[in-house]
Amino acid sequence: MNAAKKQRIVVVGAGIAGSLITAGLAGRDDIELTCLERVSPLDHAEAGTGLNIGPNAMKCLKLHLPASAEAIIANSLPWQSWQVSLTDGRVLMDLDLATVADNAGIRIRWAELYALLREPIREHVRFSAELTQCGRADGSPFVVWRDRASGTESRIEDIDLLIAGDGRYSQIREFVLGGPETPHFLGVCLYRVLFPAGPDCPIDDYAQWFNGSNRLLAFRVPGDFIYCAGSFPIPPGSGIAEDMKQPAFLGELYRPASGTPSPQAGYLIEAVQRHAERIHWARLQEGSVAYGREPGILLVGDSAHPMVPTLGQGATQACEDACVVVDEIRAALAEGRPVATVSERVEARRADRVRFVVDFSREATDTMLAGADPVAGTIRKTEPAFRQKLAQLYRDIPLPASSRVGEPA
Ligand SMILES: Cc1cc2nc3c(=O)[nH]c(=O)nc-3n(C[C@H](O)[C@H](O)[C@H](O)COP(=O)(O)OP(=O)(O)OC[C@H]3O[C@@H](n4cnc5c(N)ncnc54)[C@H](O)[C@@H]3O)c2cc1C
Repeated sequence: MNAAKKQRIVVVGAGIAGSLITAGLAGRDDIELTCLERVSPLDHAEAGTGLNIGPNAMKCLKLHLPASAEAIIANSLPWQSWQVSLTDGRVLMDLDLATVADNAGIRIRWAELYALLREPIREHVRFSAELTQCGRADGSPFVVWRDRASGTESRIEDIDLLIAGDGRYSQIREFVLGGPETPHFLGVCLYRVLFPAGPDCPIDDYAQWFNGSNRLLAFRVPGDFIYCAGSFPIPPGSGIAEDMKQPAFLGELYRPASGTPSPQAGYLIEAVQRHAERIHWARLQEGSVAYGREPGILLVGDSAHPMVPTLGQGATQACEDACVVVDEIRAALAEGRPVATVSERVEARRADRVRFVVDFSREATDTMLAGADPVAGTIRKTEPAFRQKLAQLYRDIPLPASSRVGEPA
């Protein structure tokens, strides 16, 4: 490392992980920091959806990146409970998150979350800048990016640490893994839609309603909107047929044998049918966990661990990743170490925890699979074994390096 040269860090993607990492490093005068983001600041591709972020992310952010935690909490609603019922109204589980977590999670709209994460780092992000190529030249990572407004291409070479926050379809992940990875499809269609709550809306905190293995999930988000994620089994590996996207098909999925849905399920069935044309469609899929297989290149968030969203841990783990990455970069700079060493150290601190989360998320998907029994499956989720794992998920967050026993500050 040349002592006179500032270490060059390039973050690709100002999504959840990339924005938080950029915020945690912004303003330092001992590094050269660039964040490349494909979309323009006005792009709201995800505006039509919402998400819940787990208590573990908020606990972790409060400890590592308190300003970001404060901004998120101020602009969201608390996630405090998890209720599971059948669409006929029979309640199977009513979990107070305070019994398995040290604090609440949050509920928010995607557009709101991206806007408030990107606002404080505006000066550090090149928007409309799309990574088109990455690789290694003379041992160091490089990237090529295209300005989507002008069409011009630029190259950044001699990168000391390249951070891939470019999401599930990450080009950098593909480079690190040596090619595209075939995802594992679980055989479940998951769709999402956001709509105004309207008068007398019976939906509030996070809850789910099952009819067989067809499931509705919904909660209220700020701005008086309801976020609803519906699901139903499909043959593994198959696409989502057009007739499955029609209001009549969707309505029948959730109508209980008794014929009369509960007020909440009835409200959601009607809303899903009315907003069918605005639905975002997806299939549950996951891939392998990989953080720092290449020195000087670090995968974070979905590019490191594409997982099923069943426990709301995708963005949540992206937050935990960001906290550890910022912690490790600060430590490397304080110790005068090359930041290229961060990728290996993040892998060592994160891989086991994230494998636990990926496996637990898949395990919790049991009630959504074809032929599942949601009653027996949900009752299992009220038992001590599942509760203990939830407590581990929500409480055992990564601590700052300086506070870990036996570790140098
Ligand atoms: C149906 C569904 C529901 C979900 N619900 C939840 C939930 O409730 N709670 C939860 O915690 N998680 C949820 N997730 C998961 C969550 O969406 C992701 O895990 C999370 O967004 C990952 O964050 P990230 O920072 O890795 O990537 P992202 O937030 O996806 O950000 C990636 C960024 O990289 C940019 N980018 C991509 N390619 C390039 C390029 N070539 N050049 C420059 N920039 C680029 C993108 O524009 C984007 O800004 C859900 C996912 C799905 C599919």
